[in-house]
Amino acid sequence: MICWRCANQVSEGGAFCPRCGHNLTEIGLSPIFVVDTATDLFNGVFIKAMIGQEVNRALRYRRPVAVLMVEVDHAESMRNDLRPDEVSRLLRQIGQSLVAALRDTDTVGFVTGSSPPTFAVVLPETEPSEAIQVADALRLAVSFQDFADGGPWQRLTVSIGTAVINHERLGEQDLMQEAGAALADGRGSEPGTNRTFVPARA
Ligand SMILES: [Zn+2]
Repeated sequence: MICWRCANQVSEGGAFCPRCGHNLTEIGLSPIFVVDTATDLFNGVFIKAMIGQEVNRALRYRRPVAVLMVEVDHAESMRNDLRPDEVSRLLRQIGQSLVAALRDTDTVGFVTGSSPPTFAVVLPETEPSEAIQVADALRLAVSFQDFADGGPWQRLTVSIGTAVINHERLGEQDLMQEAGAALADGRGSEPGTNRTFVPARA
């Protein structure tokens, strides 16, 4: 399926184009307000809607889908060391590293700037083992990036929680919540940074 507006290749059954935010079925409609102005990524509202739509599609067609929640490590200290505009610039650059390391079919959004800053990524058609590989690739990309104007934060890391669809389970599946919980549980039981976590009972 091709977006009527920007000719982006989009997955079948989606409601919005992940590149330009235009409604795919109601041609001519303006894009929904989708962009976070600090990072230039999709905002939390849009990425949440997109994840909901991908999860529904995956359940309907029994396809795999995965979600990653990506948190900046030591965000509290980052805020103490940097001015708000410097934090924003750094978050924008982290977002750019994530986008560069992702595949064309993946979509990243900026969920929240409050501590810790969090990005969400939706990985359509992605099996659990691949989701971990993508998460690890994102962590590596960020950890190797030289954030030249980050001052003491020229080098930084992220930690990532993953969640995948479970076709055997009944009821609603909130993969953002599950990936966030995997991250919180992982951080709680294993101190450290630059980690990928999967839910305890996948
Ligand atoms: Zn488009």
